[in-house]
Amino acid sequence: GGPVIIVGAGHGGYQVAASLRQAGFAERICLINDEAHLPYQRPPLSKAYIKGSAGPESLMFRPEKFYQDQKIELIDGRAVSIDRAGRKVLLASGETLPYGHLVLATGARNRLLDLPNANLPDVKYLRILDDSEALRRIMPSKKRAVIIGAGFIGLEFASTARIKGLEVDVLELAPRVMARAVTSEVSDYFQARHREAGIRIHLGVQATSIEAEGGKVTGVSLSDGRHLPVDLVVVGVGVLPNIELAAEAGLPAAAGIIVDEYLATADPDISAIGDCALFASPRFGGSLRLESVQNATDHARCLAARLTGDKKPYDSHPWFWSDQGDDKLQIAGLTTGYDRVVLRGDPAKKAFSAFCYKGEKLLGIESINRAGDHMFGRRLQAMDRSITPEQAADESFDLKSALA
Ligand code: FAD
Repeated sequence: GGPVIIVGAGHGGYQVAASLRQAGFAERICLINDEAHLPYQRPPLSKAYIKGSAGPESLMFRPEKFYQDQKIELIDGRAVSIDRAGRKVLLASGETLPYGHLVLATGARNRLLDLPNANLPDVKYLRILDDSEALRRIMPSKKRAVIIGAGFIGLEFASTARIKGLEVDVLELAPRVMARAVTSEVSDYFQARHREAGIRIHLGVQATSIEAEGGKVTGVSLSDGRHLPVDLVVVGVGVLPNIELAAEAGLPAAAGIIVDEYLATADPDISAIGDCALFASPRFGGSLRLESVQNATDHARCLAARLTGDKKPYDSHPWFWSDQGDDKLQIAGLTTGYDRVVLRGDPAKKAFSAFCYKGEKLLGIESINRAGDHMFGRRLQAMDRSITPEQAADESFDLKSALA
């Protein structure tokens, strides 16, 4: 019993609060929010939001009234330490909040570029609403952007910047884009599509310096000796999980705050969810840290259920999406460790799926403009079923028959 205090009001934190009330939890709920906005959706920050002119309200999960009606106390501030023996959290303001259960939903922060001039105003990142607002504001006065890192966020922004009329270069150290996340078939497709759109993609290179004059960026030099004249740098080189609050309180943390399959830390009164959590996964074996809306919200629902008496291990199936230009990528499952890829559909027709197998076991499906395959994949996984590589490759095989 006792109050539930949630640190971090992002996708995971918001969802725990909402799900607790939905499940009838009647005690105090505090959601500690260190951003100057009501809790909002992050994915549009590098997609529709940065392209359009809608105001920040368009991103909010719920209006302010929801929190009042549901008696979810939104507390502006930052948690700075945890007193585990006294079961309370200390905020930067000096306020302390006693907890019955503490939820760490602190997310992740951008990995920073370690180069001189990387702190100039023309060097931007994309994590929070204020970052997206800042880019939206300065893009109209910029002519040529370089994006450092060809991950999801870097490529989503690259598409948007190109549509907005900027010249765009993307630098990626790996030999292909999104290399850690997708098959080479999907990387190849997106490389071709971005190049068609006029984006220059440079693979196997790194930025070695940022040149500036009078505080304004004038160019970036590359590890292969080339120099790009640019007036905007956007950095998307990954994130670091926010583990410090937990680690300083003596909780085990490594590449994330370590939690068991119930999302509990080593202290049974403290749980961690979402981007910050390195969770034990019986399904996948070992521990995982994922960065996705699905992971954060399903963690939140699993934890809210446990705190209201329905204790089950976390066992949701991962899924993900990314919108780049006119193409929609959707991923069902976790494809890491595949040894065979079977294509269904035709990349030349801009609609195909890559079915990823390890032996005969279907690990996941990466779909491009094939929402039906994606939904099929999610339903198939929910039923713990599979189809053979031969069936996947055969367009005359009726996927629905596998769900019957
Ligand atoms: P977050 O949503 O990051 O929330 C954590 C919050 O905690 C933040 O507000 C942070 O400021 C706050 N916080 C941290 N420390 C403290 C503290 N000590 N005190 C108080 N508050 C604190 N995922 C997808 O599935 N699909 C997408 O298309 C997609 N696109 C994305 C695009 C962008 C630009 C970004 C940045 C992310 C995208 N993601 C996408 C990832 C997804 O948004 C994250 O996985 C998700 O937000 C994780 O939720 P979370 O609650 O764990 O962390």
